[in-house]
Amino acid sequence: MCNATVTAGGSTAVAVTEPAPVAPTSTHEGILRRQSLRESAARTYARSLPIVPVRARGLTIEGADGRRYLDCLSGAGTLALGHNHPVVLEAIKKVIDSGAPLHVLDLATPVKDAFTTELFATLPRALAEDARIQFCGPAGTDAVEAALKLVRTATGRSGLLAFTGAYHGMTAGALEASGGATDVRVTRLPFPHDYRCPFGIGGERGAELAARWTESLLDDPKSGVPEPAGMILEPVQGEGGVIPAPDEWLRRMRAITADRSIPLIADEVQTGVGRTGTFWGVEHSGIVPDVMVLSKAIGGSLPLAVVVYRSGLDVWRPGAHAGTFRGNQLAMAAGAATLAHVRENRLAERAATLGARMLASLQGLAAAHPCIGDVRGRGLMIGVELVDAGSAAPDALVPPPSPRLAAAVQQECLHRGLIVELGGRHAGVVRLLPPLTLTDEQAVAVLDRFADALAAAERSTQRRTDNRQSH
Ligand code: PMP
Repeated sequence: MCNATVTAGGSTAVAVTEPAPVAPTSTHEGILRRQSLRESAARTYARSLPIVPVRARGLTIEGADGRRYLDCLSGAGTLALGHNHPVVLEAIKKVIDSGAPLHVLDLATPVKDAFTTELFATLPRALAEDARIQFCGPAGTDAVEAALKLVRTATGRSGLLAFTGAYHGMTAGALEASGGATDVRVTRLPFPHDYRCPFGIGGERGAELAARWTESLLDDPKSGVPEPAGMILEPVQGEGGVIPAPDEWLRRMRAITADRSIPLIADEVQTGVGRTGTFWGVEHSGIVPDVMVLSKAIGGSLPLAVVVYRSGLDVWRPGAHAGTFRGNQLAMAAGAATLAHVRENRLAERAATLGARMLASLQGLAAAHPCIGDVRGRGLMIGVELVDAGSAAPDALVPPPSPRLAAAVQQECLHRGLIVELGGRHAGVVRLLPPLTLTDEQAVAVLDRFADALAAAERSTQRRTDNRQSH
């Protein structure tokens, strides 16, 4: 049984008052063993997080081994309100009890109508006033595909402008737009990066040079850039290592694309619904994109993905982006409840305040640990880049990333009952994506466990290095 209490920040703190039913260790181990025997080699989180969740509430997951974990992975940024929030459960129950159909393709329903109304109420006004919405297959990557198809149809062009370090999903078009791809239709542009600045200077000047590079490529008739149908970017690169786009740079991207009639696509799959301290990540800069790709938190923990765009782009044909699962009623109900709860309780502001405090605390930790190369983020999307401080080349501006230490920190966190994510180009960034309902006390517990885990990981990696050197 759980007791929910509403805190001053409007967030809901959940105290678990009864111990989790303790399954015999063999159950837990048996499930993990069968998973490793039967599931694909491509499985991901399951490899670094060998836990078997059986119950969850708010920030807390309970494993089949009876252990409790503070979950700062939040379904890769999906769970704006944490696990099984009462307003989400209530919304789901209401639909089930009403006898409404659960599967309706893309037919109109009262649940979908209410979701769309709630979503439009949160969008930047200039977009909402003239917006169309396409419900997509229920993953972020499918909404990215839809956005690319939309702008290619509307402009009659095929090229795409995308950024170093980007992540947009795992289907063909989304992969093409992501940082690891080398497709000729995609022109890869430098994303400003304060710490590992491609121009070696960082700050405003680094971002300014990144913008100039984009401008000069687009205006150079011999640049070899295919005519772009659109530019796609993340307001804060998530999987790329938690890299916030500077506001001024984002405004430059808006101006550069607007001047050249290139639709600007904001991929807000991870940054949306209050995560970065504003309801949508683009609001920090005040820009209004032509297209927004939305998923993860908009489904209130159930699968849902949409693309929202200005009506002038709505020239694709009926069936241009079809799919069987575009009518998930439970996700729409859970999503509408989540959007309303975040809006009414001003959880974006809460994320901004608490996130700033957590960043400051982590920066304090960095001052005492040279293995922390950088601490960055926006709102409750936080990254700690771990580096190999001892092995920097004499002419290097910053030390190389340390994926080994990052993996050790993740494991030490898990031992201390804290679930964190890794990201970044070299998997050297520890990522914190706690729910927006995080209380002050929970934030302190998360930071304490993290600091403790970091110290332990530092000691163990140092011991291993010493041992290697002495052999
Ligand atoms: N875009 C961004 C910015 C993402 O972070 C992700 C997922 N991490 C995606 C797209 C793809 O979403 P999905 O995994 O639901 O396909």
